[in-house]
Amino acid sequence: MGRTILVLTLILMGVRCAHNETIPISERQRAVASIDIPQSWRTSTKFDELNLSLKWRAGTPDCRPGEEDVMQVHLASSDTVMIRGSKCHNYEAPFIHLLFGKRRVLLLDTGAMGAEPFPLRQVIDDLVSDFERREKVEVPLQLIVAHTHGHGDHVSGDEQFRGRPNTVVVGHSVEEVVKFFGFQDWPNTSVSLDLGDRVVDLIPTPGHEASSIAAYDRGYRNLYTGDTLYPGRLYISDFAAYKASVQRLVNFSKQYPVRYILGAHVEMSNEPGKDYPIGATYQPNEAPLELRLEDLANLNQILLHMQIPKLHRANHFIVSP
Ligand SMILES: [Zn+2]
Repeated sequence: MGRTILVLTLILMGVRCAHNETIPISERQRAVASIDIPQSWRTSTKFDELNLSLKWRAGTPDCRPGEEDVMQVHLASSDTVMIRGSKCHNYEAPFIHLLFGKRRVLLLDTGAMGAEPFPLRQVIDDLVSDFERREKVEVPLQLIVAHTHGHGDHVSGDEQFRGRPNTVVVGHSVEEVVKFFGFQDWPNTSVSLDLGDRVVDLIPTPGHEASSIAAYDRGYRNLYTGDTLYPGRLYISDFAAYKASVQRLVNFSKQYPVRYILGAHVEMSNEPGKDYPIGATYQPNEAPLELRLEDLANLNQILLHMQIPKLHRANHFIVSP
């Protein structure tokens, strides 16, 4: 049972396809699946940009059993992995990000529950050991299981990581997040997390949820925003806190250049301002995950002019109080 869901497929486009090899990622994985590994993952080279030229799978019309694997794993560079849950598994289809440093690896979110098992631990274990082997890491990497926020569709794989060696699973409350990362003046100031030759800044973004954080990866200049900003319906539970958080991100982006904003879902179609219905398990023509700094600036302007929370449809997102 569950064999087929362990088949992990990478969708890589263009010329890169010519350089792909298919290599079983570990002996254990060999028993169940193999992952297509692009050249970019097989080298220690530091890339300047993530490879985002892929088509994310976005469900199927009927979501028949076995039609779509429960997750899609994309090796976006030599040290960065993006994972998306299947819309057929759980319509939220959240994104999960894995950022490797020389000493630690940061897992941002653990996905959503569905009817079938979601074998995230196995996938992460294999990726970590593959990375350790390639980099000839002598001390095993510490895995930090953290979250963009504490909602169920971002934390449901946490249990799989309890008891894993060299691992810390960060709690979901504001207190636990503040304590673990050492925030001094939540939510006003950010903290830096050194993964070993890779610094990630964590910025408090309460508003969608109280313990929300954004993560800025200095090397790639990408800002991971969870559910605070993504191409979809931006749900707000604390309007004043949310407005302040978006302004905080704008202020942050004046200090640090931002290439892409990477959120945790896609709910918009490619048609400006048009989203898919809530609960959609098939989004055949969806918008790309990545947003730009203009979108953050636009959201901030919209909020500055909004005294009370109300629906606002922008081209790439929808404010949905
Ligand atoms: Zn959420």
